[in-house]
Amino acid sequence: LLDSQAATESNARTYPRRIPVAIAEASGSYITDVDGRRYIDFLSGAGVLALGHNHPELVAAVTAQLPKLTHGLDFPTPVRDEFKRRQIGMLPEHIRDDYKMHFCGPTGSDAVEAAIKLCKKATGRGQVVVFQGAYHGSTQGAMSLTSEHAPKTGLHNLLPGIHFTPYSYCHRCPIGLAPTSCSTNCADVLVNTLTDTHGGVQLPAAIIMELVQGEGGAIPARREFVHRVADTARELGIPLIVDEVQTGCGRTGTWFAFEQYGITPDVVVASKGLSGMGLPVAAILYRKHLDTWTPGSHIGTFRGNNLAFASANAFLDVVEREDLLAHVRKIADHLLGELTVLGDSPLVSDVRGLGLMLGMEMAAAPTADATQVASRFQQEALRRGLIVELGGRGDSVVRLLPPLNITVEVADDAVAILRDALTTLEA
Ligand code: PMP
Repeated sequence: LLDSQAATESNARTYPRRIPVAIAEASGSYITDVDGRRYIDFLSGAGVLALGHNHPELVAAVTAQLPKLTHGLDFPTPVRDEFKRRQIGMLPEHIRDDYKMHFCGPTGSDAVEAAIKLCKKATGRGQVVVFQGAYHGSTQGAMSLTSEHAPKTGLHNLLPGIHFTPYSYCHRCPIGLAPTSCSTNCADVLVNTLTDTHGGVQLPAAIIMELVQGEGGAIPARREFVHRVADTARELGIPLIVDEVQTGCGRTGTWFAFEQYGITPDVVVASKGLSGMGLPVAAILYRKHLDTWTPGSHIGTFRGNNLAFASANAFLDVVEREDLLAHVRKIADHLLGELTVLGDSPLVSDVRGLGLMLGMEMAAAPTADATQVASRFQQEALRRGLIVELGGRGDSVVRLLPPLNITVEVADDAVAILRDALTTLEA
């Protein structure tokens, strides 16, 4: 199957190159390949499968919806209305009345496009501020907002007016400071640029940020940094977009990561985990005063996947009934603790994360750079039955995105595999 894919599909395919697994079926935290091998899945469909594969309650909700209505464009339907009500209801109580929702096309990239377009229209401005190391998607606009990204090479006339500014990546400080001598100087760079009328950056239409850079290497932003950015945005009247495509829907232990940072974004972008089982759906939640749109401002055929809405509503039932967000916080603490022990290895330079967005940044070995070490670590883990993905600058970070309902037993099995893989690499 892998050979047939290489022969008949485009060279743009990604995951099976590093993870050569042809999937026969999957269930919960496990994938079974076509040869009957079972793997623990810590990729979770790129952070999408919040309840793992084929959660029975979600399967039942989708099965019940299937004969009623699948594709509903943007016509109101009961499951769509419930989805909207409950997603807005997941916002902190003191702000939720101030937000509306827009249903986007089915991908995170499309929702990012919508967020940028909304802020441009509302402010009448054109530039956008983004952070170094960010990933916002693969359409031309979203890719323009994506930093240091090889696929951008050779693409002319991507979105103009994008200004990249340092992120709080303390392990490799973008402005060369040690954590002890730092007081959010990375945010100062942004503040100075925005307040210096000679800096060449006009007042932007928006600042877009990930609170934990996902593809950028599982890097939680420092709290002070986020506050400085949010305060500056508010003072200067710049809409702040938080891209919660990856951090959202419970992955960091609150429904949205911004809640933990105590900020009030103007736009929240959500997608990946929304349906809980990988049915495509994306949306933006935004403050009502931004709604300067007219009919057709951001449309698309696939904005009414009623199967995804039914699944998303059932996912929220499980989140509430099983107190899943508390589970995420607890199991994430446990996993981070175990990984931190592995971090004593000379091959690991940093262990970090927020909730179940965890990463191990690799160090160079005598005969290999950090990228090669990360790649070998990934392969050794795969040989032992654990699927993990790489990310970060130069793909030097092993990223762990288990399902939110991962059990301690499966988490410990995964850690044992990582420990074993690391021991082999050290030998
Ligand atoms: N934003 C973030 C933060 C993401 O992690 C991703 C996907 N990795 C996207 C946007 C784009 O989402 P999609 O791949 O569904 O277009």
